[in-house]
Amino acid sequence: MDDDVILRGPLGEMATAEAAPAGLNPTDLYAGAISWWSAAVSPAVSIVSWPSAPLTVWMAHVHDDASDGSRLVDTLRRLLGGSAPLATHHDVTNGRMYSGAVHSTRRAEHAGTGTSALLLTGSPFTAGPGSSWRSPLLESHTRMAWDGRHNIPTRGFRRHRSAPPHVGALWTPSLKAWRGFLSTDAATWSRVLHLAQRSAPAPLARASSDRWQHDLADAYRWAFHTRPCLTYTPHAGELLDAVCEAEAGWDTALPEKHGGFFLRVGDHVSRMAGTLAAAERTAIHGTHIRAAWSLARRAVKDTCRLVSMERDMVHQIVEYVDDAMRHVSTSEGQASPVLSNTPEGQTYGEYAHGNRSPSGINAVRKLKQWYQDSCQICATTLVLRSLRHRYSEAAHIRAKEDGGPDLTENLLCLCPNCHVRFDGGAFVLTDDLTVVDTVNDRLGAKLKRHQWHYINLDHVRHHRHHWISRNPAPLTALPSEQHETVRGVLQPWLDNLRQQPP
Ligand SMILES: [Zn+2]
Repeated sequence: MDDDVILRGPLGEMATAEAAPAGLNPTDLYAGAISWWSAAVSPAVSIVSWPSAPLTVWMAHVHDDASDGSRLVDTLRRLLGGSAPLATHHDVTNGRMYSGAVHSTRRAEHAGTGTSALLLTGSPFTAGPGSSWRSPLLESHTRMAWDGRHNIPTRGFRRHRSAPPHVGALWTPSLKAWRGFLSTDAATWSRVLHLAQRSAPAPLARASSDRWQHDLADAYRWAFHTRPCLTYTPHAGELLDAVCEAEAGWDTALPEKHGGFFLRVGDHVSRMAGTLAAAERTAIHGTHIRAAWSLARRAVKDTCRLVSMERDMVHQIVEYVDDAMRHVSTSEGQASPVLSNTPEGQTYGEYAHGNRSPSGINAVRKLKQWYQDSCQICATTLVLRSLRHRYSEAAHIRAKEDGGPDLTENLLCLCPNCHVRFDGGAFVLTDDLTVVDTVNDRLGAKLKRHQWHYINLDHVRHHRHHWISRNPAPLTALPSEQHETVRGVLQPWLDNLRQQPP
């Protein structure tokens, strides 16, 4: 198959059966179907993550200037319009047209004659003399729809406080119109997966199955009936980690403009995996992440081709992700529920599936972003020549085995040395977050703390009592005058701690 894209689930079956009769490449039809389906179910389905983002996969299918791009959307309307209806609006190129499209979709929803999902098709650009451009108002509106309600600015824009509409994008611009993306900033074009359309292959000699139609109709009804919030299996979480870790690599390996494009590869993969899982009515499994990555990988390669970006570095990172994924075990792990949001806002267990929410992953990413990978104890920033560039570790204050949560209030950003010392009790923290070296009996400096990093003292005390009560510090090193002074300060404090119950 083209670029080893894994065609999966009912959407993949649809593409296999229907691409040849429609004169389309199966992967193109499959990708378009993911975009369509994600937008259609986005009012009902969400993914466990922080901040929560709508389940919409935005794509630009770029065709050469001579051919016609509308065939893809026309085919999807015919195939999916019945089971997964949405309103499509063609060539929405400015804020006024966008508001019109949103309002007519909402009116239809309120009147009970339509869906609450909207799909933008055609091209978002106005062709100008020489180049294409995009209206700034349209830009800010669409960004908000992509990011979801948690990223709406609350100051100054009163009308933006309402939830943004559910807007999908399946643009099919010609190469000439698509070049408009190059004049937008990285934040805009990284929200879109760019695919160069393939010419259709010879018809496949295989019996077409229409089971996918029933499966998709069932999945659509299930989505709106249960309004599921999809969780990840631990396996899926690990695979997604591998993709997200590489994001820093794109950023540092490529020039700013192009590196910025890959900022959201992990986000694209999780949205596509969620879309595939929703079509199968399950939690997000490792196989969904692998399938979603296979399509993201094609989009990455296509993007290089479209902008003639240097490809060696990009291919290295792609191989790095492929390799990291090969090393993730294939066991899906423990079962736990897909949560369902009832209209009353309660949640209840529904399907037995995975439990690794990426909130832990997000906490770690947030932490590393705050500290830019510098150690909170010794301020070291490890810089490597490998793809991750900078390296730091997230240390649990209260160990995971002792029930320590994957929250930033229980995490420290440390270098590997300090991490080992902290985990082994060579470092403990006082209540005012001063670092105590219990092996050399030294009171160190205060822990570096980002203004947004709240640290829960219960966890700090738990860690300290664990080490002070169980493993009295030897207090033998450094028999120097300096040591005596420090010992004078520290010893009563340590003695006092040892006497306190934990
Ligand atoms: Zn350190």
